Amino acid sequence: MSERSYLDWNATAPLRPETRAAMAKALDLVGNPSSVHAEGRAARGLVEAARAEVATLVGAEPANVTFTAGATEANMLALHPFLGPKPVRDRLFVSAVEHPSVLCGGRFPAENVEELPVDADGVVDVHALRGAIARAEHPLISVMLANNETGVMQPIAQIAGIVHAAGGLLHVDAAQGGGRIDCRIGDLQADLMSLSAHKLGGPQGVGALVRRGDIQIEPLIRGGGQERGLRAGTENVAGIAGFGAAAAAADAARQAEAVRMAALRDRFETRLKALAPQAVIFGERAERLPNTTLFAVPGLKAETAIIVLDLNGIALSSGAACASGKVAASSVLKAMGVPAALAAGALRMSLGWSSGERDMENLLAALTKVISSLPKKQVNSVMAA
Ligand code: PMP
Repeated sequence: MSERSYLDWNATAPLRPETRAAMAKALDLVGNPSSVHAEGRAARGLVEAARAEVATLVGAEPANVTFTAGATEANMLALHPFLGPKPVRDRLFVSAVEHPSVLCGGRFPAENVEELPVDADGVVDVHALRGAIARAEHPLISVMLANNETGVMQPIAQIAGIVHAAGGLLHVDAAQGGGRIDCRIGDLQADLMSLSAHKLGGPQGVGALVRRGDIQIEPLIRGGGQERGLRAGTENVAGIAGFGAAAAAADAARQAEAVRMAALRDRFETRLKALAPQAVIFGERAERLPNTTLFAVPGLKAETAIIVLDLNGIALSSGAACASGKVAASSVLKAMGVPAALAAGALRMSLGWSSGERDMENLLAALTKVISSLPKKQVNSVMAA
């Protein structure tokens, strides 16, 4: 096979051409954005233009966008008991399907962090949420816009209504939804929102925390006073410029891309079920990102499948890209009550702007080979588990 099919866009997306052009231009500049001379002002200009582009993507004021080194750092920056205006947040509630950078509770003491259950499709149980947060005086709640493994979207505006009625604040990790679905902070009624550049066609190592105007945040990195004193350190000018360009391109193409990807994804799912009627699609009954399918074919181990698919020119993953490079048990599927044997077969296909029919054909051809080589007995015993 000559060309590879990259189908792991939720792990990281290829750079958009607009991103590459903006970064190349920025890399040719010499200035520090804090310097007052012309070179410094030119670099500052790129940073502020990018801030405006990211602000437009989420419908916020540019002054409320703080650049970070990614969504992980943005989550850490947001999740702190001192979130102004006062009072101090006494408890943090996180959904059980959050990214590890939220599940760990950010900068809250571990004993003040509580997990919120999800249903079998991975959607936050709003009744449990209402009951849990009523027990705290000034809660902070963190729920993601869309899940990185399943693509399942959360009813953020509904959750925001419940949270605000209880005097709480809502943080939304929009690393996966940002640029793919509506992520306007006003529509979602979120108080704080994390973004990651590399999920929407920007570079890795850049992100942002966006906040409602009157929310004060507690710096994570102090020192030089950059980013209005909220994130010290000389700005990653090329990265930020690339993020801005990617945000603008993603925003402009969002609706057309969503329709195209949903059609590709839906056709893939139909054909997968025809190929392997026993296949399970996780979160299938919930609203999902248009680009994501997390599925398992009973009897087919993810580790084995990924290697075979890779040898056949296809990059697919087993859900979350684990730091160790190993396939670890998914805490997301566990929270959804998926049996461990089935979860061990979870394979994630995630698409993006340059994915096409050809990629789907390549994947289905390789899957046909892998599935047809499965011993029948093994399939039946896992299904019964
Ligand atoms: N949150 C979610 C939902 C993610 O999918 C990711 C990336 N896997 C992150 C946070 C972390 O983002 P970054 O890689 O920019 O630190």
